Amino acid sequence: MAIENFISVDYTEGPKLGAALEQHVRNYDVDIMNLQRATKLVPAGESASGLIEVELENGATLKSKTVVLSTGARWRQMGVPGENEYRNKGVAYCPHCDGPLFKGKRVSVIGGGNSGVEAAIDLAGIVAHVTLIEFDGKLRADEVLQRKLRSLPNVEVIVSAQSTEVLGDGQKVNGLVYKDRTDGSMHSLSLEGIFVQIGLLPNTEWLQGTLDLSPRGEIVIDARGQTSLPGVFAAGDATTVPYKQIVIAMGAGSTAALGAFDHLIRTSAPVAETVPA
Ligand SMILES: Cc1cc2nc3c(=O)[nH]c(=O)nc-3n(C[C@H](O)[C@H](O)[C@H](O)COP(=O)(O)OP(=O)(O)OC[C@H]3O[C@@H](n4cnc5c(N)ncnc54)[C@H](O)[C@@H]3O)c2cc1C
Repeated sequence: MAIENFISVDYTEGPKLGAALEQHVRNYDVDIMNLQRATKLVPAGESASGLIEVELENGATLKSKTVVLSTGARWRQMGVPGENEYRNKGVAYCPHCDGPLFKGKRVSVIGGGNSGVEAAIDLAGIVAHVTLIEFDGKLRADEVLQRKLRSLPNVEVIVSAQSTEVLGDGQKVNGLVYKDRTDGSMHSLSLEGIFVQIGLLPNTEWLQGTLDLSPRGEIVIDARGQTSLPGVFAAGDATTVPYKQIVIAMGAGSTAALGAFDHLIRTSAPVAETVPA
């Protein structure tokens, strides 16, 4: 739960930061509706009210001139025995957040795409040894990242390998089992940390077909947080913003709010009078 990269705060924890955010919002005239899931977004041009509509799972509909979407993302999991049991007890998903906890230890990174290789490069500077495991026969990361990875003395790369189980002593991770996909043989690695880097899934399934999403399902935004739908803005991990971190999501939230404010000013201006010639 520890957060140590939120600038100006040495150390905080997720629930504490969440509670502080909620308290701050409650100081203003803002309605907070917890435990509600948005299921559909109806553009102003298609709604009976002429406003943007957000339909909720409980049957209610919110109507507004602007909407800011910030539904976040979830890490794609390996789906192997031990992964959930040892989540945050050695199984980690964020190298920038949790890497320092593994200083001087042996870790593996699962996934040989750009995020996996970047994570391995990053971790190699902190931990004793990194084993990068890739399912495919070759790494999929950019060549420049692969070159950097290969130059590091404390990194081993294993391709054509399928992770099959996270091992632990009941308290924390102590190993990883993988299958060599070329001959079916099983192997185990002794280590203390496993960083799963096989993708981040944006929580945008409910928006498909409504506004522009990237091939990865991220909401496409411009520099003002504007989406492809007029009046609809977005911020944070659910969007195409390249780095998924708290401080970035907060800044993006401000950008989207200012973008929405700007949109309101421009759309509420009285229609210009026609001056007779
Ligand atoms: C275990 C873990 C540790 C992390 N540690 C750090 C760290 O130390 N430092 C750091 O900078 N970053 C860290 N991150 C990343 C950080 O949490 C995110 O970058 C940040 O929270 C993104 O903010 P967000 O508002 O975009 O999304 P989120 O914080 O994910 O918030 C999205 C919210 O939308 C809700 N939601 C989703 N779908 C719907 C829907 N259809 N209707 C209504 N509500 C919906 C979700 O329930 C959630 O409350 C960590 C992430 C994880 C998973």
